[in-house]
Order: sequence, then structure tokens, then C-alpha cells
Amino acid sequence: QKEDSTTDLKEAKGFKGHDMLAPFTAGWQSSDLHPLVIEKSEGSYVYDSNGRKYLDSLAGLWCTALGGSEPRLVAAATAQLNTLPFYHSFWNRTTKPSLDLAKELLESFTANKMAKAFFTNSGSEANDTQVKLVWYYNNALGRPDKKKFIARSKSYHGSTLISASLSGLPALHHKFDLPAPFVLHTDCPHYWRYHLEGETEEEFSTRLANNLEELILKEGPETVAAFIAEPVMGAGGVILPPATYFEKIQAVVKKYDILFIADEVICAFGRLGSMYGCDKYNIKPDLVSLAKALSSAYAPIGAVLVSPKVSDVIYSQSNKLGTFSHGFTYSGHPVSCAVAIEALKIYKERNIVEKVRNIAPRFQDGIKAFSDSPIIGEIRGTGLILGTEFADNKSPNDPFPSEWGVGAYFGAQCEKHGMLVRVAGDNIMMSPPFIITPEEVDELITIYGKALKETE
Ligand code: PLP
Repeated sequence: QKEDSTTDLKEAKGFKGHDMLAPFTAGWQSSDLHPLVIEKSEGSYVYDSNGRKYLDSLAGLWCTALGGSEPRLVAAATAQLNTLPFYHSFWNRTTKPSLDLAKELLESFTANKMAKAFFTNSGSEANDTQVKLVWYYNNALGRPDKKKFIARSKSYHGSTLISASLSGLPALHHKFDLPAPFVLHTDCPHYWRYHLEGETEEEFSTRLANNLEELILKEGPETVAAFIAEPVMGAGGVILPPATYFEKIQAVVKKYDILFIADEVICAFGRLGSMYGCDKYNIKPDLVSLAKALSSAYAPIGAVLVSPKVSDVIYSQSNKLGTFSHGFTYSGHPVSCAVAIEALKIYKERNIVEKVRNIAPRFQDGIKAFSDSPIIGEIRGTGLILGTEFADNKSPNDPFPSEWGVGAYFGAQCEKHGMLVRVAGDNIMMSPPFIITPEEVDELITIYGKALKETE
């Protein structure tokens, strides 16, 4: 964590790099004057400004599910741009693509009945919208005190003020005066890191559910409105729920009339080898957040799915409470919606969920074969999402000194060999496009193996 040192600030002052204030990029990083400029994409690969080719093991930012050159998505965007590049969806005016996409999404989500879809531009806006929906809902029900949100440590829900508050990653909070006071955080369900000696996964899940219940009782159930969770935690390090976790957590939230929000921004549309993360883990949410693979990232779009339990209250009370005054100029942008409709069509036609399920063992087993490496603590994943955590002595209690930069070194070796991975401290994350071929999976594994050898 070099950001604060005086030397680095001095360096940054003399910085004459590019003109963009880059997201999630530290000043000291920009001062190396060498951002990697990506210019072109093709299938599972991207090319930089020097023409170097990289296997894109993170699918952009967990999002280009259909890879970087799907002509049907380009055609869908072009056709929409030629017909109606924009009209809004405010005040009872809207466009056909937004109505059609809403219908498609409601039909596609079967873990629990969903009645309405609300469109945003991003996953962060979807989660901000969740908070406003939940507050409106409780105000409509005459429960003005029921407003607190419980999220989990290490979760990632976005970077706007509210979604960053919900996130459980300290880097999103410190220096921004977050989290907001209505957000509480409960345990991260990472069994390898947090289980007690001799504790089974089921026992670990029971303990976490009990801790959640204790937190709710301490705060007062009448003040707790909603619980939000990613089915598989992504940016926090690809953390899978331990056995019986969601079953027990859902029982607790239900007991206290707390809404369950599934943040499916990474997990939806096949990533886990199921259409939705909720299908895989038997989650019956009241609200769902979507983005990323919704349009395979060819156009920015996010969505919130709302169950009848919530939408009925909002609809029936809106005369009393007034308009649901929330939305964005680009909510339901016709071009983004047209692209998303086409992406959903392609997922269906190409049986993308089954395809992910079929290729997953090659990817998961291939990387997990490196688990014996002396510098790897844990490799975890499912479907086409996988995380590697480096640790000294293979122990969660022995992180490598951060100044060694083990994860960053590994990431640099991957890059040298022609593959981009996501590095966060000593966590490495991968979520390749759903269209990745068996040969490309093998290449990914080969590069991973080379980089690992060089890091050891
Ligand atoms: N929720 C989850 C689970 C995410 O992984 C992300 C982004 O990575 C977000 C929300 C925020 O989405 P966006 O970056 O589109 O605002």
C-alpha cells in the first residue's frame, strides 16, 4: 500500500501521463507512464496498441461473456441505432426494446417469481436502486424505522456511495467516509480462511447464520430491512458459499421479515454453470441485481428484478406516497436493451449454460491440479469462475508480506506470457468468456503453470 507515502506523492506531482483519472488505479501506478492500452478484441483474446495478443482470462471485467467479436451483438446495436438511437422510459413513455427485455428477463428468472424489471446503466446503479426500492417499500408499509441493510465482509456491490457502502472491502470505504451508517456487515462465508479448528462446512454455516441472527437482534429486527449477497463472491476473491450456508441464512432473514437481495451481477446468465446463481444455490430472493453479461458488455446496462411481494406494495401505495421518483436518463436505453435481448437469445440458442457446465471441469480441474504448489493456499471456483489465493506455508494465517507482491508478480508473468488476469493483493481471479474453447482453456492452464513456476 504505497499510496500514502510522501515519496510517491512527489513522484505523482511530476507525473505527465495520460489525461484520464483512471478508475481503481493508484496515483503511483499511473506514474509509471505505461498503461496497457487495449485496442482490439477477437473471441477470447484482446490486443494491445503494440499488436500483442492476450488471452483475456477475466472476460474484460467478468463481463464479455460472448467474447470480443460477436457480430450478432454488433448487428443488434447497429439496427437499433439506425431505427431509434434513444428515447427515454420516464412518465409512461418508453421503447419497445426496454419492454421486450423486461419480459424476457422476468421469464428467464425462475428461482422465485419476479414481477417487474427496472433498468439502470450499471451494477452499482442497480444496487443503489435496490436501497431506494426497499426504503420506499417499508415507507409504504408504514415501517419508517425498517431501513438498515446487512451485507457481508469482502462482498463487492459497486462503487457509487451506496453500493460502495454495501461492499465489504475496506479499500472502498477508507478515505471516502464510508460505509453509510445504515449499512452493517456480517461474516464473510470463506470456510478455508475463517473456519474454526475441527468445524465442518455445515457447522461453519450454522455459526455464521447464528451470528447474523445475533446482529439482527442487537440492532432490532424492526430496523433491519434487507440482506444482500452475491451467490458466489467475485471481487472479494471468488468465495463460494459453504454447504448449507444460503439455506440457513435465508431462514434467518425470513424469520425477521428482512428482504433478500441477490446480487447476480457476476453470477447470472451461465457463469456458474446455471442460468442464475440463485438456481444453483436454491436462493429465493425478493430482489435481484443484474448487469455485465446481461449485454455481454457490448453496451452498458444493469437491471433490478422485483418480486410481486415488493412491487405490489409499491404499486398499490404509490397514489398515497407519490411517484417512485427514481430513474436515469438512460434507464432502458433502447440500444443497450436491443443488445441485451440479442445476448439472451444467443445464450438460449447456443445452450450457453450447458456449454459452460461442459467446459467447466477442464478449466477447474486443470487449474486445481496446481493446488500442491508451495505458494498456493487455496484454489476455489465453479463453472467459469476461479480464484487462487497465495499464502505462505499454504496457510490462511500466513499471508506473504505485502511488499513481496507475490500476486502482482504472478500477474506480470501471466501478462508476459500473453494472458491477462485480475490481481488483488495475493488473490488472482479468472472468469473467461463463456465461449472459450477447450484449446483456449488448455492455453490458459499452460500460461498459469508457467507463471506459477516463475513465481515459486
Ligand atoms: N455487483 C457485483 C457483484 C459486481 O461484481 C460489480 C462489479 O464488478 C458490481 C455490482 C458493480 O457493477 P458496475 O461496475 O457495473 O457498477
